[in-house]
This record gives sequence, structure tokens and C-alpha cells, in this order.
Amino acid sequence: MELTPSEVWSQVLGLARERMPELSFRTWLHGTQAVAVHGSEVLVEVPSDFHAEWIEDRYGEHLAELAARVTGQSVSIAFRSASTSPGPTSPDLPVLEPETPTSPHLASGPGVEGEGRPCHGSLNERYTFDRFVVGNNNQLATAASRAVAENPARSYNPLFLYGGVGLGKTHLMHAVGHEILKRTPASRVAYVTTEQFMNELVRAIQQATTREFRRRFRQIDLLLVDDVHFLERKDSTQEEFFHTFNALYDAGKQVILTSDRPPKELPGVEERLVSRFEWGLVADIKMPDYETRVAILQKKAADDDLTLDSQVIDFIARSCTSSVRELEGAVIKLLAYSSLRREEITIELARSALEGVLRNRGDEAGPRLTAGRIRDRVAEEWGVSAADLASKRRTRQVTVPRQVAMYLIKELMDESLVRIGEGFGGRDHSTVIHSIRKVESTLQDDPEFARRVLRVRQALEPS
Ligand code: ADP
Ligand code: MG
Repeated sequence: MELTPSEVWSQVLGLARERMPELSFRTWLHGTQAVAVHGSEVLVEVPSDFHAEWIEDRYGEHLAELAARVTGQSVSIAFRSASTSPGPTSPDLPVLEPETPTSPHLASGPGVEGEGRPCHGSLNERYTFDRFVVGNNNQLATAASRAVAENPARSYNPLFLYGGVGLGKTHLMHAVGHEILKRTPASRVAYVTTEQFMNELVRAIQQATTREFRRRFRQIDLLLVDDVHFLERKDSTQEEFFHTFNALYDAGKQVILTSDRPPKELPGVEERLVSRFEWGLVADIKMPDYETRVAILQKKAADDDLTLDSQVIDFIARSCTSSVRELEGAVIKLLAYSSLRREEITIELARSALEGVLRNRGDEAGPRLTAGRIRDRVAEEWGVSAADLASKRRTRQVTVPRQVAMYLIKELMDESLVRIGEGFGGRDHSTVIHSIRKVESTLQDDPEFARRVLRVRQALEPS
């Protein structure tokens, strides 16, 4: 008798589970579903494009073998992100009532906010305070988050957390949500990404239900809005956001926001919204230092019942210097590697498993390059402020460093012209091109200028 796609896949998963570390299985495969069979190809839906790539890359062959074993014929497996197929989405407000059962979690993998589906309205159950390691990189942010959890709307409102990707912003904001629900189970806590907020709003506008939209959003006790840097240039969303924000604030409700940069540096966000964001407390999260990275690894290992000896922990902590998510990714990769090779985790195994991660990266790798760091360094060299570079001023004193900063951002980060322009007070891409050309020609003609630019470049890219 023919097996249905889901029967084939559940048998494959059963076999895979026995052969993989539990953490990797839960992270990557648990909850995936086969949606179709075309000839000998099985189509499997996974939570994101990133999952699709990762699974294909790391486990594709192995899974195809298992599928062949199950079906008795050769099978190929294609992975597709579930989010690319629109699927039914609930227009309901993502309020977490205390009785809402939290869905079974996956350990969060890189690029994924925990759950195996878009976490619309759900708090990741692993993102709690007791799983969060406090280090000098996140001390203020953590203390402020705890204060907010203990005294919502009275200590810091809004709380604005910012920092690079994978450093724990979402984790901390969910932790406040959990804590508030624990203390006051009747609280209405809503978590939305800025993207979800915008999508909801657009749908409300199309369906002429904006009044309802407002009413629902304004009933919330704690509103968590993740990644507000995506608000850039979405004027109607900003307008609505502004009103929602004011309504909640006036009603004594708590708002927490996260972003990849501080409010002032949000390009294209209206001044009045920026100043609202700054009303409460703005706290940053940085990359943890070596000691904190070790502590995080030890905690992850303990939480997941893994044994990693101190040499291996030291090695990973030294190697992963860009984000906490990268640290976690390294552990997952190491586990997968050790199980596929059926070898114990040793320092040698860690070295070969993480070879790719380490390439191009010595132990002393500096902090990650960002447009903000480049702007700061250039501003310093030319003795102006970073704000001057983004301002409308056109005196030579600021235009030259502004052009240099644009040039270096293009050179070192290969950022798009449009985005570069946004980082400088919303200048358009033709201005950016002009600036870059100007720097290129001055570099040819003016050795003193060229030396200066080189000096900045070397400070940014020590190697
Ligand atoms: P961001 O929202 O800043 O991009 P996340 O909150 O999604 O980052 O964090 C990325 C991953 O790193 C998550 O799995 C999170 O649990 C973990 N993480 C980040 N910081 C810490 C920390 N201080 N202690 C424990 N885990 C952390
Ligand atoms: Mg996040």
C-alpha cells in the first residue's frame, strides 16, 4: 500500500531522531511536515528559508537515505519555507491570555524566534530571565527589564532596548512578558514584530476595520514591539504607531520596544516618534565579552543536559565573537557533527566542526563592522560629531567626512546605496554615488587625504 507523504515523513523523522542529537532534532526537524509527493520527490515544509537551507545543507543527504529506506525506492526531498506560502493567518490580536497553552517549543536556531511557526502572539517559553545570563554587555538592559517586570508602567516607559542581531533583545523582552504573566496572570500581554504590526494595520485599512484594530491594540497591558527599525519610511504605520503608543501610555500601560540602533539613528522615523521612544529608558545590549560568553555556553550546556568540557567551551567562546546566536549555532553544529560521525566531542572534533566558522577570524577579531561604527570613526578622525554627518549641513567641514563615511560603508560593507543614504539623514542614492566618486577621485589626487582615509580604514579593519 502506498504511504501518504506525511506517513513517509513521520517515519523518516522517527529514524532521524534516533540518529541525531536531541537538540539538533528539536531545532531543525521537529514539527516539519511533508506536504506533497511529486513522483519520487517529497516536498517538506519548514519554518523559514533559513531552515530550508540549513536542513538541506546539513541533513539533506542523510534524510534522503532514510526516506529511501522507508519507501524502498530512491527519493529526493525538497524543503520549502512555510512562510512563503501565504497560509491562513488569523487577523486576531495576538494577546496572550494566561490560559493560552504555549505551543511546544523548539530550541531556537539562528534566525528563528523559537517556535516552529511564525510566533504571532506567542512568547518563546525558553526566553525567560532565569535562562538569561547577565554580563557587563547587558547589565543595564537586564536591570531595566527586571524593574519593568516588577513595576510595569511605573519605572521606565517605554523601555527601548537596542543592539546588534542575535544579542538577546527579543529574549529579554519575552522575559518581561513571562514575568508579568507570572506575577499578574490576568495581564494582557501582546508580542508583535513591527512587521506583524504593519501587516495587521494594512489589513485593517483594506477591510475598513481600523477602529477595531485600534480598540484591540489599546486594550493591552504590556505591548512588546520587536525590531522597530523596520518602521522606517512606512508613514501610515508610523502614524498609527504613534497613536497606539500615546493611547497606551496615557492609559498607564507598559510598552517595550527593540531596535538594532538607538532611536536617534532610526532613519526615516519621524522626530515626534523618536522623542516618544526616548521618554523612558534607552538601554543597549552589546556583544558579551569572553567571560560572559563562557558563562552563556555553560548555562546552555547545563540547560540542555550536555557535557562540554572546559577546553571545548573555551574554544567556542574564543571563536564566536559576533553574536550569542552564533555561539548557540556553534554548539548545535558541533552536536550534529559529533552525532553524524559518531564521535565524542573533543577539542579536535570542535576544531574541525567549526572550521568554517573560524575561517578569516583570529582570536582577536574586533567588534563587528557596522555603518554606525564607520560613521563614528570617520567623525572622530575629522573632529566632527556623528550627528553632523547625518545633518543637513553642507559646509566643507562636514561634507568631506560625510562623503568619506559613505565611501567606506560601501567599500567595507557593500551596503546598498539607498540604505547608505538613509543612514545620512535620508539622502538619496544619487547623492551617495556622487559622494563615493568624489572620494575616489580625491584619493588619487591628494596623498594626505588618502593617508587619512587609510588610517580610518585600518582602525576599522585591524588585520
Ligand atoms: P536579538 O533579538 O537581539 O536578535 P535574541 O533575543 O533572538 O537576539 O537572542 C538570540 C539567541 O541568543 C537566543 O536564542 C537567546 O536565547 C540567546 N541569548 C542572547 N543573549 C543571551 C544571554 N545573555 N543569555 C542566554 N542566552 C542569550
Ligand atoms: Mg530579535
